[in-house]
Amino acid sequence: MTNFTFLPEPYRIKMVEPIHLLPPQERVEALRRAGYNPFSLRSSEVYIDLLTDSGTGAMSDRQWAALMMGDESYAGSSSFYQLESTAQELFGYQYIIPAHQGRGAEQVLFPQFIKPGQDVIGNMHFDTTMAHISLAGGIPVNLVHERAYDTQLEHPFKGDTDLDQLRSYIVKRGAENIAFCIITITCNSAGGQPVSMANIKAVSEICQEYGVLCFMDAARFAENAYFIKKREAGYAHQSIKSIIREMFSYTQAFTLSAKKDGLVNIGGLIGIKDNREWYEHTRSVLVPLEGFPTYGGMAGRDMAALAVGLQEVVTDEYLEARVYQIEYLATRLQAGGVPFQSPVGGHAVFLDAKKILPHIPFHQYPAQALCNEIYLEGGIRPVEIGSFLLGRDATGVQLESPLELVRLTIPRRVYTISHLEYVAAICTKVMQRASDIKGIKITYEPPVLRHFTARLEPLS
Ligand SMILES: *Cc1c(COP(=O)(O)O)cnc(C)c1O
Repeated sequence: MTNFTFLPEPYRIKMVEPIHLLPPQERVEALRRAGYNPFSLRSSEVYIDLLTDSGTGAMSDRQWAALMMGDESYAGSSSFYQLESTAQELFGYQYIIPAHQGRGAEQVLFPQFIKPGQDVIGNMHFDTTMAHISLAGGIPVNLVHERAYDTQLEHPFKGDTDLDQLRSYIVKRGAENIAFCIITITCNSAGGQPVSMANIKAVSEICQEYGVLCFMDAARFAENAYFIKKREAGYAHQSIKSIIREMFSYTQAFTLSAKKDGLVNIGGLIGIKDNREWYEHTRSVLVPLEGFPTYGGMAGRDMAALAVGLQEVVTDEYLEARVYQIEYLATRLQAGGVPFQSPVGGHAVFLDAKKILPHIPFHQYPAQALCNEIYLEGGIRPVEIGSFLLGRDATGVQLESPLELVRLTIPRRVYTISHLEYVAAICTKVMQRASDIKGIKITYEPPVLRHFTARLEPLS
């Protein structure tokens, strides 16, 4: 991050959405009402919303125009065929099936391949992916390289699967006990860290050698391709599109949340490379779960906007500005002495709450406590990725997450550098009073995916 030159956003603002910072006392009350869980805040209580980059992006004028042209026919919508041909061309897959969002794609695709008791291996599964593996009777297994857990280690591809572990795991467990492998690009749960082309290829080859199917969880496929172009030898002069083609050539199917690199607010896709039987079966499962195969839970207008989004996201100009925003925020946090996972990934900066709040043990949820302080200080809503998100084992014992992270997630094309300047200033102020921050305890939690609705209370 030396020679940092200033890069203005490659768009100008045509429509504005006002945002407001509540006075400090009202933020205190809002957080109390929310049970000290930022997920339960109302958006009107938030000034800068960095909860997620999922479905929170801004569409372009071309996407809004496409929206007006959406074909709402139940069957055979022309918007579907636009989306289908765009995705076929982009990913090099023969079969494209729409779904209402990423988890819809997962619920349709996964149960076809999982027999109860089988493992689903991968670099690091996303939380809804884990949930859908478990719901289908499978066991999610993460085989990400251990360097992903070292937040200070500089490595260009911290989302890579550990190849030695992958091989020995398949041998030890037996290929017949493994339903399939999923490569998550970028690796969201490991901090949005990219996966190298060499690693995607090697994982695919090892899977092939043992007869294990290999799929992609492709939510941030364009950001991953951009990192390959910038960081991996031999790709600097290739187009983003050709890098994407190569990435997907190594897998047989994908699920994709269009709410990320699709540049739309809702939507998802399933891609099947060439297996007609899987395609036929997937289409028939789709109908009762998501909808008819030419809409799959999406409105015609949403499919039309997604077809345009998939074209906009693969441009160098868009991706350069996208990743620049994340790097800019990181540089400003570094100047303020706030530790974060380095190098930064493609969609967020992950603050290292273990380093910021070393006095708070994992069972007092240091990252959740830090999220709350950032909200109180400046009306910014981050999200916890740590022990609070991880949950409990089968016997009810709280698991210890190897990382306690606070994710500052940057929505696509929504905030400007001056918003990020403010975010860095607020985090720096919180950092300066870190030793006074207390841990937190849970007062209510639901049995699954508790982090969305749990209530907490600060420890005195
Ligand atoms: C968001 C996401 C999903 C789930 O997609 P939704 O659209 O939120 O249902 C799955 N995997 C990864 C890696 C994601 O980031």
